[in-house]
Amino acid sequence: MNIFLFLARRFIAGETFEQAKEAVKRLNDRGFLVTIDILGESVTNKEQAEKARDSYIELLKNINTLGLNSNVSLKLTQMGLDIDDSYCYENVVKVVKTAIEHKNFVRIDMEGSRYTQKTIDTFKKVLRVYPQNIGMVIQSYLYRSKEDIICAIENRHRIRLCKGAYKEPPDIAFPDKRDVNKNYEEMAKKLLLKGNYPAIATHDERLINIAKSYAKENNISKDRFEFQMLYGIRRDLQERLITEGYRVRIYVPYGTYWMPYTIRRIRERKENLWFVLRNIFRR
Ligand SMILES: Cc1cc2nc3c(=O)[nH]c(=O)nc-3n(C[C@H](O)[C@H](O)[C@H](O)COP(=O)(O)OP(=O)(O)OC[C@H]3O[C@@H](n4cnc5c(N)ncnc54)[C@H](O)[C@@H]3O)c2cc1C
Repeated sequence: MNIFLFLARRFIAGETFEQAKEAVKRLNDRGFLVTIDILGESVTNKEQAEKARDSYIELLKNINTLGLNSNVSLKLTQMGLDIDDSYCYENVVKVVKTAIEHKNFVRIDMEGSRYTQKTIDTFKKVLRVYPQNIGMVIQSYLYRSKEDIICAIENRHRIRLCKGAYKEPPDIAFPDKRDVNKNYEEMAKKLLLKGNYPAIATHDERLINIAKSYAKENNISKDRFEFQMLYGIRRDLQERLITEGYRVRIYVPYGTYWMPYTIRRIRERKENLWFVLRNIFRR
């Protein structure tokens, strides 16, 4: 089997909704909340963008019909951001409208830095018309995020905080992981204290422990925030947090366009890279 496909299977719930549905049910049964991502990004034609939009609309209907405890996460370049901003906005609005009909929620993932401002602008534009049911992501590796988080808190935006998964130059992002972590810690505390139901998205046990202690010290109850983790990563930690009574949402990706997502996961951890290289050279 293709080594990338083999690794992808650890990080994705399958290539079809049928497969993803079973994974989501299993997670829900164990007490996890879920956000489903239909894999896709960097779409260059309207046909693909509309197919992705319609798949999300169908997904939201299925979540409702099947009674799954899941919202959805999508990327703007999947909805046509590279084609035209307004066109992308219209596609997102259609998905958000369906989410509202089914009392659900849409999280706009954050992509590489060339899309940061456009993503924030589109998010705010949707918010003006549909102030509920939509959230965004802030990445702690970007210098600008210190300002973005203040603005998000002031405006009661629903934020998922992550470290950031794209390769960024040192003039816009911290090159040193220690600074990324320090920034994450500061921003997580701000969000916990003043944010609107923030999502602390990380597998970093040290940062998770800091968030737990900070919430406890400041009497922030466990229902005022959630932890989020990726499907297939640190399952032990995911289970432990559930046992301790925290809300934990698992990001469950599925679909056939799994390569870019898998490459990001491989890059994040050198053990994953070694696994790939070992298997390539073994052939
Ligand atoms: C729910 C969720 C949504 C996300 N959404 C976005 C988004 O919209 N935009 C974006 O740029 N990024 C997103 N990310 C990815 C994020 O930015 C990081 O790239 C990723 O989470 C790894 O960072 P970390 O916080 O886990 O810390 P790290 O310091 O990278 O990892 C901490 C520990 O987690 C484990 N771990 C982390 N990654 C892996 C891996 N790939 N394989 C195996 N073990 C691993 C290891 O034990 C590692 O020691 C998201 C992450 C999560 C959890």
